[in-house]
Amino acid sequence: RLYNEVIELKGNIRVFCRCRPLNQAEVEKGCNDVAEFDSCQDNELHILSADSSKKPFKFDHVFRPDDNQEVVFAETKPIVTSVLDGYNVCIFAYGQTGTGKTFTMEGTPENRGVNYLTLEELFRVSEERRGFMKYELFVSMLEVYNEKLRDLLVLNPSETSKRLEIKQAADGTQEVPGLVESHVSSTDEVWKILQSGNCIRSVGSTSANEQSSRSHWESLIDGQKTRSHLWLVDLAGSERVGKIEVEGERLKESQFINKSLSALGDVISALASKSSHVPYRNSKLTHLLQNSLGEPLFPSDLGETLCSLNFATRVR
Ligand code: ADP
Ligand code: MG
Repeated sequence: RLYNEVIELKGNIRVFCRCRPLNQAEVEKGCNDVAEFDSCQDNELHILSADSSKKPFKFDHVFRPDDNQEVVFAETKPIVTSVLDGYNVCIFAYGQTGTGKTFTMEGTPENRGVNYLTLEELFRVSEERRGFMKYELFVSMLEVYNEKLRDLLVLNPSETSKRLEIKQAADGTQEVPGLVESHVSSTDEVWKILQSGNCIRSVGSTSANEQSSRSHWESLIDGQKTRSHLWLVDLAGSERVGKIEVEGERLKESQFINKSLSALGDVISALASKSSHVPYRNSKLTHLLQNSLGEPLFPSDLGETLCSLNFATRVR
């Protein structure tokens, strides 16, 4: 009721594609960009093959190499802020290592990413609605590594091994009892928390990391309280899936990443085909996100995009 666009967004899955610029090493090696945007609309790109044929791809939006963090966030903003209207929201960054997932989600101090810009916007909107709504924001930071959950906000390192499990709460939502929820009231606080959490990740760049912001909101008009979750997920690099030349711990890790990403592919394709059974329970990742990935309404072109996502998960 507060924002018409939010009503339209409910249940939708959007797939955005972001092409990063070639980096210096790639330029020095004489690499060519395979993405081409000539005569493309803002939701398409062409991939150039070795035989110089062009393959068109469509998404809900395509960000080009010169699109900065603000441009990316502008598209994301109406989706993430719907958490303040009581919707559960989930954003994933998917792609092989080095393609810009962490840059997009976390960013750098000079180029802050979706996570930070989102929190900043949530604080701004909750301030704007102060007269009639009361919001409380909590941040948790969770890592899923080898099908185990780890709390990245536990201050005492000896406690980090504490076993966390996913439980179903009385209202049917999934929760992780014991997970630290830091009450936050400014973006500076959030930035510090995220930095401290990043320090204790297992394998910084490749493990399946998640970070969740839980916003509890309360309407002052009728005193009704609601809780909704926003998940911001930096997935493991998709290229490890299926590679079996590694051994020992690395092999175990890549098998778990494989399991996690293919379970996510299965859930998304079950949702896309409106299947009556959605296999959320096949991995910790999908089980956790169960309440934030459901009942979608699909825009027309999406089936295909989801198939490529699913396909990419399987063939890599
Ligand atoms: P991933 O998390 O997918 O493995 P990163 O986010 O770490 O990839 O990106 C790899 C490198 O490319 C980093 O040095 C990052 O700063 C840089 N990079 C990624 N995307 C962009 C972008 N859109 N513009 C400029 N640099 C980028
Ligand atoms: Mg990364």
